[in-house]
Amino acid sequence: MIQSRLAERVAIVTGAAQGIGAEYAKTLAANGATVLCADITSVAETVAAIKELKGHAEGVHVDVSSRQSAEEMAKSCVSLFGRIDILVNNAGIFTSLALKPFFEISSDEWDKVMAVNVKGSFECARAVLPAMKKQSYGKIINIASGTVFKGVPMLLHYVSSKGAVVAMTRAMARELGPHGIRVNTLAPGLTSSENLLSNPAWAGDVSKNNIASRAIAREMHPGDLCGTLVYLASTESDFVTGQALVVDGGSVMH
Ligand code: NAD
Repeated sequence: MIQSRLAERVAIVTGAAQGIGAEYAKTLAANGATVLCADITSVAETVAAIKELKGHAEGVHVDVSSRQSAEEMAKSCVSLFGRIDILVNNAGIFTSLALKPFFEISSDEWDKVMAVNVKGSFECARAVLPAMKKQSYGKIINIASGTVFKGVPMLLHYVSSKGAVVAMTRAMARELGPHGIRVNTLAPGLTSSENLLSNPAWAGDVSKNNIASRAIAREMHPGDLCGTLVYLASTESDFVTGQALVVDGGSVMH
């Protein structure tokens, strides 16, 4: 059933083809938002799932690391729906990464992770800015990770990239506050998305130890993030900006 907490709102979710991003897109639509699902791979399944539940969604191809592609995504959103209220910067490189000591990370792999996770969030935020400024209102939700606060080893490029997302959120929030644009970070703990489950690096003891570190010691699913996402997207959080909200069952406390 479609709820109305985000009625009349238009959202872009990047990395919406699958996993956590698909869950974000479906949740925003279920709360009344119109959603542009964006990804470098096909978002057809996510869009169809939203439409099946009588929600409003369209899809667009984007490579978030390209300025031109991010701008085309924002233009499509405005031409389809007339505005952009919410940007969820969820596209990222994570589940395909192998755990390894930092000195074994190739320079190319480092650059690729930074290009998508850091530059991608910057490009998409910049691309939606003209529409949000015109409205004097907007919500940018950057997706980081609990790994930043824990200093998780064997993923230095990833942890550094998500640390940059937390820092970028704070500085962006200060620059954009005068325009009525709120910028916050949502930092998930280890979450059983489809792709994570298919990467053996995250199975066994790694997963068990992670779960054991939580105050609420159970597996985390994409749906666990959705209440916080809707809160950050809705007017309920209009006086909250520059913050990093960790959703991980209380593994990180900061
Ligand atoms: P995932 O790998 O399943 O999905 C990432 C999505 O981003 C994919 O659909 C992929 O096609 C898309 N993408 C990759 N590069 C892109 C590009 N250049 N342009 C556009 N789209 C691109 O990951 P997930 O587990 O669903 O995680 C989603 C987000 O949450 C990521 O930012 C990830 O870092 C973050 N996160 C995940 C976890 C976890 O445990 N799964 C924990 C903390 C943070």
